[in-house]
Amino acid sequence: MNKVLLLDFENRPINICSWKRALILLMKGKAVNARRLNDIESMIRVENILIPNVIKLTYKLAVPYQELPFCRENILVRDEFVCQYCGKKFPADELTLDHVYPKSRLGPDIWENIVACCKECNQKKADRTPKEARMKLLRRPYRPKDYLMFELKKYPEHIVRQWLDYFEAS
Ligand SMILES: [Zn+2]
Repeated sequence: MNKVLLLDFENRPINICSWKRALILLMKGKAVNARRLNDIESMIRVENILIPNVIKLTYKLAVPYQELPFCRENILVRDEFVCQYCGKKFPADELTLDHVYPKSRLGPDIWENIVACCKECNQKKADRTPKEARMKLLRRPYRPKDYLMFELKKYPEHIVRQWLDYFEAS
């Protein structure tokens, strides 16, 4: 599906929306084309309409802080589907979630304690800490900060060249 990058009044990326939502914002005058008018490469053609792939709000908006949901899918995306112990990449259904500090010893369900882990490594580690199991974590698990960059990571096929201008700038 064709996606549109939505910028705020000050050209900061705030969301990725569908072309339909973009069209409504444009028709209501709530947003305008953020690209140069003759930049035909940044236009999406939907049926007989051309929609810019970057639009910007015409009014100031207080952007609410978006907390990234803590869930299996987002942990796998954060870890890029790579087992955090052996470093190999796996399809989602072959990965488990590992509590770095074991759940059996009340290791908490938080971003900083959960990593993507292949079945083999999970079995090997069992109810031990990485140190006890002599297994090294690729990197310390963390809570992702930038919501929008994270969303982009999930849908790399949607990223278009024109969008990157706004992420580099911010
Ligand atoms: Zn592994």
